[in-house]
Amino acid sequence: MSEDMLKEALHSLKDTGVRITPQRHAILEYLINSMSHPTADDIYKALEGTFPNMSVATVYNNLRVFREIGLVKELTYGDSSARFDFVTTNHYHVICQECGKIVDFHYPGLDEVEHFASQVTGFNVSHHRMEIYGECPECSGTKEVH
Ligand SMILES: [Zn+2]
Ligand SMILES: [Zn+2]
Repeated sequence: MSEDMLKEALHSLKDTGVRITPQRHAILEYLINSMSHPTADDIYKALEGTFPNMSVATVYNNLRVFREIGLVKELTYGDSSARFDFVTTNHYHVICQECGKIVDFHYPGLDEVEHFASQVTGFNVSHHRMEIYGECPECSGTKEVH
């Protein structure tokens, strides 16, 4: 499954004329296999052993290339540093207010909200964002112990 996703991603890189360097390959692979919505720093730390000459700025520049061709989404939530998400299908995020973990979930039907918003305001609606906040099972679990 993730092998196919990687292959497809590499294919779209080729289609857009973006050179596939070993670093880009590794960053994509990490994004696809990690479900944790990493920051550029997380990716840098995970890969610095393999690519000692790579800097955080390099990681960030590559992420920006991926974002421009629509392979990744950059998620910004207020004050914390941007996190990156490999774009699969549209999904929503539930965010832990204690540890900052972001978990994907799928929920259909909010297109209706976009249509409604467009109808009542006359806006040409492009997209929406929705985040759910709370405490993850791990964090609420540790709290009960205290
Ligand atoms: Zn948590
Ligand atoms: Zn996500």
